[in-house]
Amino acid sequence: MFRKAHLFFTMLCGGTTSVIIIILSLFYLHTTQNNLYANAFHSFTNDIGTIAVSLEQSANISMQWLSGLEARNEYQIFVIDNGIPFLYNKLHDRDGADGQTLLAESLDAQNQTASGIRMETEGSSYSGIRHSEYEFRSPSTGQFYFCSLIDIQKDSSASQIVILSPLKSLRDSLHKQRLFFLFLNLAALVALFTFAWIFTGLVLKPLKENHEKQTRFIAAASHELRTPLAVILATNECCQNASVSEQASFFQTIAKEGQRMNSLIDDMLSLTHTDMQRFPLDKKPTELDTLCLNAYESFEPLCRKEGLTLSLVLPDAPIERCICDPDRIAQVLSVLLHNAISYTPSGGSVKLALNYHRDRRGSFEITVSDTGIGIDDDDKRHIFDRFYRAEKSRSTKGHFGLGLAIAYEIVTSHHGVISVRDNPAGGSIFTVRLP
Ligand code: ADP
Repeated sequence: MFRKAHLFFTMLCGGTTSVIIIILSLFYLHTTQNNLYANAFHSFTNDIGTIAVSLEQSANISMQWLSGLEARNEYQIFVIDNGIPFLYNKLHDRDGADGQTLLAESLDAQNQTASGIRMETEGSSYSGIRHSEYEFRSPSTGQFYFCSLIDIQKDSSASQIVILSPLKSLRDSLHKQRLFFLFLNLAALVALFTFAWIFTGLVLKPLKENHEKQTRFIAAASHELRTPLAVILATNECCQNASVSEQASFFQTIAKEGQRMNSLIDDMLSLTHTDMQRFPLDKKPTELDTLCLNAYESFEPLCRKEGLTLSLVLPDAPIERCICDPDRIAQVLSVLLHNAISYTPSGGSVKLALNYHRDRRGSFEITVSDTGIGIDDDDKRHIFDRFYRAEKSRSTKGHFGLGLAIAYEIVTSHHGVISVRDNPAGGSIFTVRLP
């Protein structure tokens, strides 16, 4: 499910950004290439303007001057004197077309207005000279040219000069630019999709972890509920064939297992409420020393029954009141004391202590230490996880592995910290710090 979602979101993010980037870069490329073309045509018409001025001022057309013009600008120049083509140009034939054909094609293109002409300008700066510029594609060579047709009317003679500027190098560089853009776009797409894959992976990671946590929780909860339920069903079956005196003990077992299921469901509901951020906290100024004293009084008889010594250490001087939910903190104390008693063999001791640290903001520290079986370093990392039990054999005695998970949620929802360490005297010490 998450793999599909990962792929889907990668395609969505990567695809959307790629389309935007491609559209923008195509627009940019189109505009730049049009500008380059327009600038080249503009500089060609400027050149022709200058040439027209020179022609106007000189009495006759010098062949030497035309050769220089051709060599300098890589032009191909043709002269038509009184209607007779005078194939002057020395550079002709270089594109594989003979000059005659090229001249005919360029004149044809000038006569066509619809096809072959991309842009055209016309200039007439001086009385006897008219010129017009346009672009055309030679059908014989397939090459593109800017072409200028200069009409010179002097006295009784009429001559024309056709100047062709091949566009091969301009079109080559535009083609290279397009290839470069294509390469850039491909590189950007690869980078984008890689980024989208990593990014959506990071976004989905907490969801995936949460989903796995929920699945583990449901599996563990079902497993824990199945045991008492199996006992209830089996006892119920036995009850049907049992005598009245036996039935009383079976009913007791059913009630005990029902109670067990009830407390497990209560624990699970508490955790579900914390997950849904609906953990009701009724915070008020609370005397933690009184809370500790109450817990001590509640657990002292149980300790005595189990052969344990329970001691309470409170600060000598009166301490400030803690802003917390007294019922929830009492629940934490109950979990810690209940565990300490459960995991300490008879003859051991359990100590409940309260400390107040007068640091910058003031903090309360409650510790529950025991001289019990202690907790392995490996287990210490997991004991606050749901349904985690280092001592699996305790599961039948109302230990579902949820107590510390609930304590953790209560303490953290008070912005406090709960931790565990080894007791130098053997056993463990649980510490709760409340701001
Ligand atoms: P449980 O209901 O099983 O006690 P908890 O969440 O309260 O569940 O505790 C998780 C596990 O941590 C217990 O199964 C136990 O192995 C270990 N543990 C908790 N408190 C103590 C303690 N005081 N001494 C030794 N082990 C403890």
